[in-house]
Amino acid sequence: MNNVHEYSNLSCMNFDITKKQEDFISKVDSVCKSLRSIEEECYIEDRLNEKLVPEFSKIGMLGCPISKKYGGLGFDILTYCKSLERIGEEGNSMRTFFSVHTSIGQMVLQGWADEDQKKRYLPETTIGKSIMAFALTEPEAGSDPSSMNSRYEDKGEYYLLTGKKHWIGNGTIADIVTTYAKDRTTGKISAFIVDMNSSGVTKNEIKNKMGLLT
Ligand SMILES: Cc1cc2nc3c(=O)[nH]c(=O)nc-3n(C[C@H](O)[C@H](O)[C@H](O)COP(=O)(O)OP(=O)(O)OC[C@H]3O[C@@H](n4cnc5c(N)ncnc54)[C@H](O)[C@@H]3O)c2cc1C
Repeated sequence: MNNVHEYSNLSCMNFDITKKQEDFISKVDSVCKSLRSIEEECYIEDRLNEKLVPEFSKIGMLGCPISKKYGGLGFDILTYCKSLERIGEEGNSMRTFFSVHTSIGQMVLQGWADEDQKKRYLPETTIGKSIMAFALTEPEAGSDPSSMNSRYEDKGEYYLLTGKKHWIGNGTIADIVTTYAKDRTTGKISAFIVDMNSSGVTKNEIKNKMGLLT
């Protein structure tokens, strides 16, 4: 009973949507419908829907909750979630693309990167020229990421990262990845932005997954 009393004072989140939000979600709906038949084939053939990035880029979905300052639409989280909810109806793989590119990709940069990094990386991701991923999990470090084996060394001009990441959504198509590694001496974990065209980066696709294919 005590808990009921305590929580009754919380204000409710407003789920009402404006005309502007509604118009955007209806654009998302149209793109979803146009991709339906292709997505069906892609699911069966276990491959990425090649129309996903170009078609959703046309309506700005690749930068939906990203600030206009970095080329996004500057929408709120409710609009983004409602869009994801609609996209998820078409299949978990399409929804996962955005969960990775935007939720744990762009939004990590928007929230935590410095201004130079945001200006350097975000604009290309909002127009679909550059795809993002988030690489934390390792073959032997999943639920407990602090047991990761990836290491970094400060080489003065650059950081040298050594390690293997596993189960990375968008991993084989991403251009920019945020990843995590431990300092060789202190064991402290730091985050890094990795250009996937850097020398020494290799990627292998995991085929025949169940459900989430991206
Ligand atoms: C399709 C797919 C996409 C993914 N995308 C990404 C991505 O984009 N980026 C990324 O970094 N990672 C990604 N992951 C990895 C995901 O985050 C890990 O799979 C998850 O953290 C679990 O780790 P694990 O698979 O090693 O399982 P484990 O950690 O080995 O866990 C196995 C089982 O044991 C249980 N368990 C583990 N520890 C405990 C405990 N202490 N107490 C009780 N139960 C426990 C778990 O709940 C689970 O059921 C993805 C995974 C999949 C399958």
